[in-house]
Amino acid sequence: MSDTNYPRRAVLAMAGVALGGASLIRATGSANAATRESFLLLEGTEHETEVFVTQGEADGPTVLVIGGIHGNETAGYEAAAEIAEWDIESGTLVTIPRANEVAISNDSRIGDGGDLNRQFPTGEEPTTALARAIWSVVEEYEPTTVLDLHESQEIYDGSDLDGVGQTVFHSAGEKATRDAEDAVNFVNNNYIDDSTYNFKLGGFSSPDTDPSGLFVHKAARDAGADAFLVETLSTDIALDTRIEWHSVITRRVTGEELFAGDESTPTPTPEPEPKPEPPTARITTDPANATDVTLEEDTTVQLDASGSEAGSSEIVKFAWDLTGDGATDATGAQTSLTLGECQKYPIVLTATDAEGMTDTTEITLSTL
Ligand SMILES: [Zn+2]
Repeated sequence: MSDTNYPRRAVLAMAGVALGGASLIRATGSANAATRESFLLLEGTEHETEVFVTQGEADGPTVLVIGGIHGNETAGYEAAAEIAEWDIESGTLVTIPRANEVAISNDSRIGDGGDLNRQFPTGEEPTTALARAIWSVVEEYEPTTVLDLHESQEIYDGSDLDGVGQTVFHSAGEKATRDAEDAVNFVNNNYIDDSTYNFKLGGFSSPDTDPSGLFVHKAARDAGADAFLVETLSTDIALDTRIEWHSVITRRVTGEELFAGDESTPTPTPEPEPKPEPPTARITTDPANATDVTLEEDTTVQLDASGSEAGSSEIVKFAWDLTGDGATDATGAQTSLTLGECQKYPIVLTATDAEGMTDTTEITLSTL
């Protein structure tokens, strides 16, 4: 937290929040292990909106998911509403599905108070009552992971100021980077047929570069959260598909926090088994220079395979083809050959190890 933060209690009062349970308006009584309650932000105002808090059975970190910061980015707030109903296993899931109720009811990006996603300056108090109310939830629950679900009318081409669709922007840091990469790979591999729509990764712009005042930037820089801004393409794609993409990405990013013990949670790739190494076959001759010279007729050349090297298991067999016809003429580490007149002798040695891996080497002796 930045030391420029306003006092928390004052903000909660200002935001109309009573987080002690007094404004609890709903709690689940289901048999699910997770328990859920909710409360209202800015109750009684046109910005009144519901915050859902789901507690998993096992302890764990807190995740905050927000949608509807922009009122015409439907898949974001629809997905957040579904995520608010998740039956999590661990940790705490705080969801603000409809952050900007006025903008959502007008189906407009910004509603009546300017662009809500420019009202969270880093190191400073949020600039509107709605932004302060939303930020009070971050301060109260101190999430370690924050996801903000949006849509864009164009696919991201590298500029944060143009279309940003099909992108997961993420805060710096090893875990956030790894989780974003994993989620993007997962959704691309399993939920996208046309690679035109493959999700890309993006970083956050620096505090003094446009765009600034973003909710996720403040969550990362002032609250120390791993923060993710998920953008789907709002044109050409069916709404259900866009909602599913948001949901899958959020599920994948938060698997470790909210679904600890679930086997679908991404687990680190195990160390690969060491790759078996084949042997290396090697022939030495006596005379040593037998392959370099034209030999006399009737010369007997000693052939020795004992300079061969084992790979990951020991060599159990040497096979010699002394005539180049592919058939084995001799076995064992040593053999010999007496040469005839005016001939070439292609000599092939095959070494085989205990795991059946082989290597072959060839020399040529000549009386030509
Ligand atoms: Zn947006």
